[in-house]
Amino acid sequence: MAATATSIDAPPHIALFPCAGMGHLLPFLRLSAMLSSRGCSVTLITVNPTVSAAESDHLSAFFAAHPQIQRLHFQLIPYKKSNFTNEDPFFIQMESISNSVHLLPPLLSTLSPPLSAVVADFPIAHGVATTLSPEQPPIPIYTLVTTSARFFTLMTHLPHLITQKDNSCIEIPSLGKIPLSNIPPPMLDPNTFFSANIISNVSSLSKLNGVLINTFDSFEPEAIEALSQNAVLPEILHVGPFESLETEARAHTLPWLDEQAPKSVVFVSFGSRTALSKPQIRELGNGLLKTGSKFLWVLKGGKVDKDDKEEVGEILGESFLERVKGKGLVVKGWVDQELILGHAAIGGFVSHCGWNSVTEAARLGVPVFGWPLHGDQRVNAEVVEKVGLGFWVREWGLGEKLVGENEIAEKIKDLMGNENLRGRAMEVKEKARLAREIDGSSEMLIRGLIESLKNKG
Ligand code: UDP
Ligand code: UDP
Ligand code: UDP
Repeated sequence: MAATATSIDAPPHIALFPCAGMGHLLPFLRLSAMLSSRGCSVTLITVNPTVSAAESDHLSAFFAAHPQIQRLHFQLIPYKKSNFTNEDPFFIQMESISNSVHLLPPLLSTLSPPLSAVVADFPIAHGVATTLSPEQPPIPIYTLVTTSARFFTLMTHLPHLITQKDNSCIEIPSLGKIPLSNIPPPMLDPNTFFSANIISNVSSLSKLNGVLINTFDSFEPEAIEALSQNAVLPEILHVGPFESLETEARAHTLPWLDEQAPKSVVFVSFGSRTALSKPQIRELGNGLLKTGSKFLWVLKGGKVDKDDKEEVGEILGESFLERVKGKGLVVKGWVDQELILGHAAIGGFVSHCGWNSVTEAARLGVPVFGWPLHGDQRVNAEVVEKVGLGFWVREWGLGEKLVGENEIAEKIKDLMGNENLRGRAMEVKEKARLAREIDGSSEMLIRGLIESLKNKG
């Protein structure tokens, strides 16, 4: 008897290529593990050296924990300064990768079994698509977008948005009006790397087979609708929220959290690469002491961890640390945010609204007070508020304006004392869980993608 079609289906082999920064690497690691646990062969393309120590540490731990996932080392050609204003080391790395991708095809052809698809990070999608599209037979190319569907929708409207930058709002069908103050200024300036890079990546979207986004249907219905209606775009696959990576190590903050009452602690973190100014750090510290809630605060003094050597005491002063005793814990260095957000003692999250942080809070049902500062963060904060996961103050984070300790204490009290918000965050958590159920919207899309790539190698 002939074998049934399913029994001879070869599992797809998918190569994933993240660009720079933990906000990009983590979702790529999570997607890699999810594809692998759903039967795919997976190769992760990694560049050397990484910008941050956190990236190289996470890569080593990831490959040790997932020996079935192949690692393809990709050597970058030396960086040549371009015409764009670009001093951000993470953006420079993105540019370096884009300038090196022509070296990729011979490396990919050595992989075994042959590749069924490549998933490239959005900031390097143009380079990857330009290099791989002429290949015969063509390799299906997808991009993984690590920001919100809402911010991605805005990106797909560049350069049209630049022509509207004298208005106070930008209007996009299905999304409604977005105040110009929520759009990062470099995005509307064609002379920046940020803007030029987005425009070139958007121009390549029509060559791709699909766009994966770490979001889910009930979280961003309007933006998913706006993207799906855009005839120029390939298939939109909202496959989030991503599952967490299984970690062996217990975070060093957990013994302290274990001693705290349920929902009594506010967790404060601005992500992997955003540092507040020293004066703002002092206001935040004093504000936290005035809230009456316990707090766990991850302090960052610089953009790249390797250059951020100051100790907590040097930044905050020893007398401040005395006052913190019994009230909170201030840590520097990497913590396992997902483990913390999932801990019973956490009652609220003061977040810069990096998209990974937002999706983690959603998946774990933690109410958010958003304090967005740069890039996509204000647009992500709009999503947080719209869906009922949290709230934010529009005036904060604009320009150099310092936010005072009393104002900070007041907002954190609003966050920690708001039972309605807590209820709504739990509803978001339930919807996130449903999206990941076997018949849930996100799960069906990822399994459909894997099915469609079988026998494509
Ligand atoms: N993160 C963490 N520990 C830290 C700092 C960050 O686990 O000490 C994780 C966080 O959970 C998130 C990612 O790093 O998954 C940061 O990405 P996000 O998009 O929130 O912000 P970015 O760092 O890109 O600004
Ligand atoms: N930046 C950052 N974290 C981010 C996004 C941006 O540290 O998540 C950096 C960015 O690379 C730049 C600076 O902050 O060097 C200012 O960013 P941007 O121009 O986007 O923000 P603005 O303050 O102008 O709104
Ligand atoms: N982005 C891009 N090219 C760039 C900078 C940003 O495509 O040069 C996109 C990318 O999808 C990123 C989003 O814009 O996730 C927001 O960028 P930002 O620097 O604020 O965040 P991060 O890179 O830390 O996620």
